[in-house]
Amino acid sequence: IHPTAVRRPHSITVESDNTLYSDEHITAKFFNRGSEVTVADGHFSVKPTVQEYEFQTKRAVSKTGLMMIGVGGNNGSTLCATILANRHNIIWHTKSGIQQPNYIGSVLRASTVRIGTEPGTGKEVHVPVSDVLPMVHPNDLVLGGWDISGVSMDKAMERAQVLDYDLQRQVLPHMALLGKPLPSIYYPDFIAANQEARADNLIPGDDKQAHLEHIRADIRKFKKDNGLDRVVVFWTANTERYADLIPGVNDTADNLLAAIKASHSEVSPSTIFAVAAILEGEPFINGAPQNTFVPGVIDLAERQQSFIGGDDLKSGQTKLKSVLAEFLVNAGIKPLSIASYNHLGNNDGHNLSAERQFRSKEISKSSVVDDMVDANRLLYKAPAIGAKGVPVGKGEHPDHIVVIKYVPAVGDSKRAIDEYYSEIFCGGRSTINIFNECEDSLLATPLILDLAILCELLTRVKYRKVGEQKDFAPLYSVLSLLSYMLKAPLVKPGTEVINSLNRQRNALESFLKACIGLEGNTDLLLETRIW
Ligand code: NAD
Repeated sequence: IHPTAVRRPHSITVESDNTLYSDEHITAKFFNRGSEVTVADGHFSVKPTVQEYEFQTKRAVSKTGLMMIGVGGNNGSTLCATILANRHNIIWHTKSGIQQPNYIGSVLRASTVRIGTEPGTGKEVHVPVSDVLPMVHPNDLVLGGWDISGVSMDKAMERAQVLDYDLQRQVLPHMALLGKPLPSIYYPDFIAANQEARADNLIPGDDKQAHLEHIRADIRKFKKDNGLDRVVVFWTANTERYADLIPGVNDTADNLLAAIKASHSEVSPSTIFAVAAILEGEPFINGAPQNTFVPGVIDLAERQQSFIGGDDLKSGQTKLKSVLAEFLVNAGIKPLSIASYNHLGNNDGHNLSAERQFRSKEISKSSVVDDMVDANRLLYKAPAIGAKGVPVGKGEHPDHIVVIKYVPAVGDSKRAIDEYYSEIFCGGRSTINIFNECEDSLLATPLILDLAILCELLTRVKYRKVGEQKDFAPLYSVLSLLSYMLKAPLVKPGTEVINSLNRQRNALESFLKACIGLEGNTDLLLETRIW
């Protein structure tokens, strides 16, 4: 069995007065160090700050279910089949030999974190990310979900044409046991017209309140039937068009609930699912680009202290862009234009060939370099300051375009072509061209796992601001710690979006370490720099 599939006990103990272990919890002190900066007449005055917190993590992992909306699609069926292959240790033949199941591509299962150095040798010690805190093993997730297509899960896997035939052949009986997806909500106006032929597994009627109650009952039943403590509800269905933001309709929790009652036309299926999960107190993650999280959904999640995360899986091109753009800008090189072309031939590509659905994807792919550009006003001119001291526009920015085309022949094997055209020293120019070809669903599937597993973990972590809060409280509803896996990270309203992949990873690692009382990442390595 590949090491990433092996079940390992939680095996780290931190020996420190700042970390306490009880049978039920790990409680750790954390000093949040930062600095406050005031600017006056071009002078920066910086005051270091420190605030003490405590994190309390429940040690027992929840028995967790993953209910996917769009479970019969490429991502959904690939995820189910690969978990089953891992769970049953199915080994299959490919043209190059024998292949074992694994979780390569999962940050939690296939990457490591540095926890310190060995005494004496100073050698760095790394552990799997999944060992830092108790986390659900992907093999233990109970799988289920909805799809507007009523094709059974074994047939859905065949339709997806993602996995090797010999794996499909062996995993097929296990997939057949998953049966048919639950019927779902279909409002044809929200996804491409070319999806209509698939829509044969629908909850009847057009009463949106009844649909909401139906989905809530599905979640409750799934939880009860499988004896679960937690159900993560995950949108991996087709990309919807954006919903219009209408004051009085989807701007507040109460207006949104009233709009659902009135079956308002601007309430999308994904928003109904999000509201259902929130009202059931279960986390909801949006793996597609549309604006499921209209302000009313965020308001409702806050009110119910329920968890949400999104938007859109960051699998290939955007992930690379968030690394390359940061590399260039941090190297003092000035990207002048970034041009991205994709073509793909799976059903996602078919849906995205419609203008309004493409637009959702274009928006989600577009802002990925914004924070890097904003952070370097040596290279890019800041926005002009208008009347009353308010900035006008976004300031100087590289040209950035995204094109997506549907080419059926290439199936699930997505092609992404990116050109980075930059200004270098004294008027010079540099062009980097990247051509990436990758099985789309095999990149996306481990991200779904990481998101669901992290999400479950974050429901078990509570915090306390020492000196201000007596009791531990749950984390804030919008789980921006999931940003590493998401293309257009949803963050707490009013706070800045971090797109840099390195910063997103750093935040996640630092948070996991803080929960066991370890300092965040430092590359200072002072011992190696002094006598
Ligand atoms: P897919 O078309 O193969 O699967 C989507 C499934 O959703 C289909 O089976 C469809 O019948 C179903 N569906 C549509 N509307 C539904 C509804 N209202 N309720 C229930 N089911 C519904 O697509 P995929 O390749 O699996 O991708 C899924 C989503 O993930 C897409 O929105 C895509 O943009 C997003 N995404 C994918 C990747 C990737 O690398 N694969 C990356 C980022 C985002």
